[in-house]
Amino acid sequence: MNIILLGPPGAGKGTQAQKLVAERGMIQLSTGDMLREARSSGTEMGKIVADVMDRGDLVTDEIVIGLIEEKLNGPQGGGFIFDGFPRTLAQADALEALLRKVGQSLAAVIEMRVDDEALVARITARSTCADCGAVYNDRTRPIPADGKCENCGGTEFTRRADDNEESLRQRLMEYYKKTSPLIGYYHAKGKLHPIDGLADIDTVSGEIKAVLDKA
Ligand code: ADP
Ligand code: ADP
Ligand code: ZN
Repeated sequence: MNIILLGPPGAGKGTQAQKLVAERGMIQLSTGDMLREARSSGTEMGKIVADVMDRGDLVTDEIVIGLIEEKLNGPQGGGFIFDGFPRTLAQADALEALLRKVGQSLAAVIEMRVDDEALVARITARSTCADCGAVYNDRTRPIPADGKCENCGGTEFTRRADDNEESLRQRLMEYYKKTSPLIGYYHAKGKLHPIDGLADIDTVSGEIKAVLDKA
């Protein structure tokens, strides 16, 4: 089963995708993670996108569609979780065509609704395990007292360069201008399932599970 987690920066897409990977053997496809990896490994593409990402603008459709296409041709596991992709109507159309090409389809689009104030609070408190990418939060999901990642035991945690208030404002603007039209797009296709992303992490997981069990 292939699903999209749709929502503004900080809505909890990565957190929920990691849980689905652990519980259902699904494969998380986060274009944000792929782009950050390209940056840190110093590839040509990584250099091109670094400034764009730090400003909070969207990377070109061509680049992210290329990244996704590569993954769709790899192992399919228990299905794909598209996390942070698609972010434009052009990406949504491309995804549909790519899925069709590999004989797959989209089961559901989960729209995680969270208000702007909560997003700012969440993002400025976010950190990530440098080894496995597990997502933490100073307030709502603190790093364990022994300083070790619950998932992999790693001891190094990083904060993203774009997780500051100024860049976040720009990312939110991009979301409302370019990504939110996807809500109407998937509603029209009968695929949209809005859920309350403001609830605590386990409650949100329960709502997602309820949607997937019916899809
Ligand atoms: P968040 O977790 O805040 O939603 P991501 O990690 O998904 O952010 O993305 C970080 C940055 O990477 C975005 O601000 C954008 O510059 C770039 N990016 C990620 N996915 C896409 C995409 N599908 N299309 C365009 N740019 C993207
Ligand atoms: P996204 O991938 O949509 O940008 P993340 O999963 O990285 O969002 O979550 C953003 C921040 O909010 C992280 O610090 C995460 O620990 C925290 N978080 C995620 N889901 C919730 C939730 N339901 N309630 C409170 N905090 C949350
Ligand atoms: Zn870890």
